[in-house]
Amino acid sequence: MTELRDFTSTKSDVQNTYSLQHSSMTMDAVARSQKKWSGSQIIMTIKNALELLETFVDESDPDVDTENVYHAFQTAESIRKSNTNLDWFPLVGLIHDLGKVMSVWGEPQWLVVGDTFPVGCKFDKSIVFSESFGDNPDTHDERYNTKFGIYDEHCGLDNLTMSWGHDEYMYRVLRRNNATIPNEGMNMIRYHSFYPWHTSNAYRHLTDEYDETITKKWVNEFNKHDLYSKADDVIDKQKMEELWKEVYEPLCVKYNIGGELMW
Ligand code: FE
Ligand code: FE
Repeated sequence: MTELRDFTSTKSDVQNTYSLQHSSMTMDAVARSQKKWSGSQIIMTIKNALELLETFVDESDPDVDTENVYHAFQTAESIRKSNTNLDWFPLVGLIHDLGKVMSVWGEPQWLVVGDTFPVGCKFDKSIVFSESFGDNPDTHDERYNTKFGIYDEHCGLDNLTMSWGHDEYMYRVLRRNNATIPNEGMNMIRYHSFYPWHTSNAYRHLTDEYDETITKKWVNEFNKHDLYSKADDVIDKQKMEELWKEVYEPLCVKYNIGGELMW
């Protein structure tokens, strides 16, 4: 198996997406996106979102160049095959990237995909392509360019304003629709792309004890499946349909996301 997350000899799309993201992801840009999407009136089901991802390829991902729906089922099935006794865990695998539908609706990929990081404080060197933050206006704004920026020491992950993308959006969609997935699962969705924290251990001056023990453990557990299932065999359309009917549709119902949701 070749190395995953190798950004050195990577597709030009990957680099372009990150450089656009890093030069444009400001406190203001995040606030605008939060406002825009919290007022969105789009109504559809989880199944509709999966179908939309049949047309979507993530330009920031050096490891995947197939439509995202395959990655959804590969991640979910990798978790299910790990014999977890937590039935919501495979469901989290299936839906973790559904926030990428924003892109199908016209949002540029820099506001949808890629690794995430907090805004409102200094951008950490461990972020991939961190040199491209030189062009970000917040890098030159003294309210935001210090170690703590607008935050208090150990304020906790949930008090950070994260860069806008599919993680934060999907988390908000689930909250907005009163999903009953346990907190561990909600946090997997919200922070799965926060590689600078969960893999590089940056930003520990801002996280709290709970983040560093419980949340990090679960996010890293999730991450194994998110990352390493990308090398697994692709699941064909008919199999996906069967899995949906037999396994995932009933789980959506159980966790209160079985019907039409507001996106
Ligand atoms: Fe993702
Ligand atoms: Fe993913």
